Amino acid sequence: MRFEIVTIFPGFFAGIFENGILRRALAEGLVKVGVHDLRAFTQDRHRTVDDRPFGGGEGMVLKPEPLAEALASLGIQPKAERAAKDRQAESSQQAGEKLDSGSVLYQGTPLQLAEKCQRSSKKRQGTTSVVPQMQQNEKGALAPEENSPEQISFPSTQVVLLSAQGRPFTQTMARELAATERVVLICGRYEGVDERINQLYCDMELSIGDYVLSGGELAAAVVVDATMRLLPGVLGNEASGDFESFGVADAEIAAAEDGVPRSQHGAGGLLDYPHYTRPAEFGGLRVPETLLNGDHAGIRRWRREQQLRKTLANRPDLLENAALSKEDRKLLETIRKESA
Ligand code: SAM
Repeated sequence: MRFEIVTIFPGFFAGIFENGILRRALAEGLVKVGVHDLRAFTQDRHRTVDDRPFGGGEGMVLKPEPLAEALASLGIQPKAERAAKDRQAESSQQAGEKLDSGSVLYQGTPLQLAEKCQRSSKKRQGTTSVVPQMQQNEKGALAPEENSPEQISFPSTQVVLLSAQGRPFTQTMARELAATERVVLICGRYEGVDERINQLYCDMELSIGDYVLSGGELAAAVVVDATMRLLPGVLGNEASGDFESFGVADAEIAAAEDGVPRSQHGAGGLLDYPHYTRPAEFGGLRVPETLLNGDHAGIRRWRREQQLRKTLANRPDLLENAALSKEDRKLLETIRKESA
C-alpha cells in the first residue's frame, strides 16, 4: 500500500516516519509513503500556493491550480474521468476481457474476496480492487456476509481531503483504507482548500475529530498511522488489530450462547480492557488478583467484563453496534443495575 501526502510543509513528516512500527513497516516495504511539496507545483517565482477568498473574509485559501498539478503528477485524474474508466473496466470484465491496465476485478463472495485481498501481494495498477462488505449477522457480529452473490468493488486509489468539515475518521474507515492500494492525502492550510479541488478530485473529506487544527499534516499522519498498522505483516501478530479497541469480532463471538465470553475472538467493537505490568503493587494500588492467579478462563471473563465496563462508562454509543454474546448482555445488565 502506498500513501501520497500533498502538503506545503513536507519537513513536517521527517520525524513521524522514523519511529516505531511505521519506520519498520517502511523499511520492510510493507507500506510506502510519498511526501509531495505543493510549492513544487506552482508556476510563479514566489511559489504562491494561496490567495484571498472570494467574497471577502479572514485568512487565505489554498489555490486550486498547484493542487491539480500535484495530483496530475501522481496520475490522479478528476473523479468523473476516473469513474468513466472504472465503468469501462467493469464492462470489460463482465465481457470476460482481460483489462488493459492489468487490473483484476475479482469475482466471488465477499468472504472469498476478503481472503483474496489479504493474500494478494501482486501489485495491481488498475482502477478497481475489492473489499468485503462487513455485515452484522443476526447475532450482532460484524463479519463478511458469506453467501452474498453481490460484487463489491472499491477503488484502488482514494483521494482524501483532510478537513474539519469531513466525515469522522474511524477504525472502520481505517480498515476500508487499508484495503486500498493507494491513498492520496491532501493537507489543507489557512482557511482550507479551494472547494473545487474537493468537488473535482476528492473521494472523501475526512476529519480526525471535532476540533480545528492549523493544518492537515497532523491529520494525515493520524490516518497513515492508524491505517498502515492494519496491513498484513505490520503488527507482529496478524490478529492484533482485532483485539484492540474497536476491533472487529469474528463470527464465533456472537455464536457463543453461553460459557466464557470470547474476548480472545476480538474486541467486537468494544473498547479495550485495562492492561497492567510489573510491579504488582504501585502507588498503593494492587493489580487485580484475577490477573495474577493463572486462571485463563477467569482472566478472559475479567477482561471481557472490563471491556464492557469501560465502553459503558466512556463510549456507551459503541454498545449499539458491538458484537455481544448472550453472556455479555447479561453482564451489561448487571453493571447497569449496579450503577443505577
Ligand atoms: N476554515 C476551516 C473550518 O472552519 O473548517 C478550518 C481550516 S484549518 C485552520 C486548516 C486545515 O487544517 C484544513 O484545511 C484541514 O486540512 C486541516 N484540519 C483542521 N482541522 C482538521 C480536522 N479536525 N481533521 C482533519 N483536518 C483538519
